[in-house]
Amino acid sequence: MTGPDGATSTSTHCPYCALQCAQSLTPVPGAREGASVAVEGRAFPTNRGGLCQKGWTSAAVLESPDRLTAPLVRSLGGRLVEASWDEALDLVAAQLLRIRAEDGPDAVAVFGGGGLTNEKAYQLGKFARVALGTANIDYNGRFCMSSAAAAANRSLGVDRGLPFPLTDLTQAGAVLLLGSNLAETMPPSVAHLADVRSRGGLVVVDPRRSATADLAADGQGLHLQPLPGTDLVVLLALVHVLLTEQLDDTAYLRQRTEGLEELRRRSALWWPERAEQVCGVPADDLRAAARLLAAASPVHGGRGAFVLTGRGVEQSRQGTATVSAAINLALVLGLPGRVGGGYGAITGQGNGQGGREHGQKSDQLPGYRMIDDPAAREHVARVWGVDPASLPGKGKPAVELLRSLGTDGGPRALLVHGSNLRVSAPDGQRVAERLDALDLLVVCDVVPSETALLADVVLPVTQWAEEEGTMTSLEGRILRRRKAIEPPVGVRSELWIWSELARRLGTAGSWDTDPSLVFDELARASEGGRADYSGVSHARLDRDDESSAVWWPCPATPADEPEHPGTPRLFTDTFPTATGRARMVAVDHLGPADDLRPEAPLYLVTGRVLQHYQSGAQTRRVDALASAVPGPYAELHPLLAARLGVRDGEKVRLATARGAVAVPARLTDTIRPDTVFMPFHWGGAGSVNRLTTDATDPVSGMPEFKVCAVDVTAASAM
Ligand code: SF4
Repeated sequence: MTGPDGATSTSTHCPYCALQCAQSLTPVPGAREGASVAVEGRAFPTNRGGLCQKGWTSAAVLESPDRLTAPLVRSLGGRLVEASWDEALDLVAAQLLRIRAEDGPDAVAVFGGGGLTNEKAYQLGKFARVALGTANIDYNGRFCMSSAAAAANRSLGVDRGLPFPLTDLTQAGAVLLLGSNLAETMPPSVAHLADVRSRGGLVVVDPRRSATADLAADGQGLHLQPLPGTDLVVLLALVHVLLTEQLDDTAYLRQRTEGLEELRRRSALWWPERAEQVCGVPADDLRAAARLLAAASPVHGGRGAFVLTGRGVEQSRQGTATVSAAINLALVLGLPGRVGGGYGAITGQGNGQGGREHGQKSDQLPGYRMIDDPAAREHVARVWGVDPASLPGKGKPAVELLRSLGTDGGPRALLVHGSNLRVSAPDGQRVAERLDALDLLVVCDVVPSETALLADVVLPVTQWAEEEGTMTSLEGRILRRRKAIEPPVGVRSELWIWSELARRLGTAGSWDTDPSLVFDELARASEGGRADYSGVSHARLDRDDESSAVWWPCPATPADEPEHPGTPRLFTDTFPTATGRARMVAVDHLGPADDLRPEAPLYLVTGRVLQHYQSGAQTRRVDALASAVPGPYAELHPLLAARLGVRDGEKVRLATARGAVAVPARLTDTIRPDTVFMPFHWGGAGSVNRLTTDATDPVSGMPEFKVCAVDVTAASAM
């Protein structure tokens, strides 16, 4: 595309979240401070041409003064000093070979990221299992999507964040949004809620009166404000009301589901008055929400309804159970598989969806196949040209892997790609100790993140506007990421780094560095799997930018047959389970692992702000974003602040069993008086993950980021 000044613009998508807003990038060297491309929103169904503040300012990271442009190696004096690529890669390969020879392949571990392109996520899984031979690979999506994925896979047979187009929300009569602050995390998506708000059908479940909860005010819906850690009780009560008031979709339940009797037996225990005692939401509000959802459901002649979950309810030791309860609710209403209804998870990271499909997860192979499935191993090994018996088995999920680093029998080397563990992992001080205990820490990044600063070797890599590839959005739609500018001299793609390391490790086979060739191999590896990309290629995605973005599954077809159109809506005929029916999994409420006690009498909840993304490594380096929200803070209700003797802006000390931080207080009546909120985008002394618990969900391995018990005092009292 050619712009008015004759410069060629490139169609791509935002580097940050899973909404993957469409952008046009036009190179303007030196035209704007800190930017080498001008960014514009581009028409696309999900963002309708809009971008949030992060998207508008995304070019600033390309020419950040902090940009890494040469490999760094830790010197004998302990400093990171510049090295040539050959020196850095020779050093890494020699250390990996030594550690592997001494303690076996599992002594080397790999940590990936949900922001990596599909091609990189795929190649990283292959590199770990073929070149390194290790079972120990996992990624930061374990902290993000693992509970929703585990629950959807076991109940619906497959996990695609939204198994329907996002634009379907505009037609709905009701949308139940659990633990998702869309108005701050994905502002352009809120346009799709405008119609349902005008119908009074938005129901938001959140312990905070967030910007999204405010959208349900003034007759536009309901805000249910439960005690932190009790979202599951809200869902159990909603199902109770639907079943006891016979508002369920009886025919749908009979024809398309299994497990109703056990669900009926368990939910019978959660009548609204009992639920109110546990979760604090008035029984009348629970009944009103259930009836509102029922009235919008097709079985009662409504326009349709959606049940959506986000990290607020998923990042819990009961995350999988809570999502199962949300799916049960959607099934009782007869929604999944109907046009105009369903259950979906709002995926967070840019490639949070694709990142979990191509094999960088400890228990999975490409195509969203399970690594312990003999047929899956056979298929993928054939594509990789290796013996299936040579492929490692299931590795440790992220938190367990991090706990094991540098311990007796645990990994001695760790390669980190697209993740800032020092800030984003729970119980951060313990993570720092484990990283420090390694013989070798290698970090690939674009800027010196808190984790990179701990590394023995730092490798500078390309980013977003400097590379070709694909991303899969929260809808399961495969999108092209395109190169608009050349990367800085000295920077390399991870695909090149893995190819060079594989060669130095003496690994045979193909290690393509061209993303379109890697995609072709990914497509073959995914063929027949749950996430089938085999009918897709870069060439197909490039044919026509918007309409050719394809929803998976999109299987290959014979050459003389029309190509598969892709699958915008799943489950319309059947569920991909053994019986073809959705499974309702009856669950019970346990409450937070770290509950209130005299020495920690308040709830601490964590979350995001509009201006920052994930660990903040990129957005903290964008002036407009950093100046808007320059550092961490704690939100306190004025009643709590008065009791503590704290005024707005004064420092408070928050302490848990893991550590303590001191940050400025922000007084707001949008939070419960028994709860304190901190955003998690900063490292250092104000990092909230110094406080969070590393208790995990036994099914998904998801850490309980969202709630723990905390003591809060005025810092001046210390
Ligand atoms: Fe980028 Fe997400 Fe903002 Fe869209 S909502 S501009 S994808 S950060």
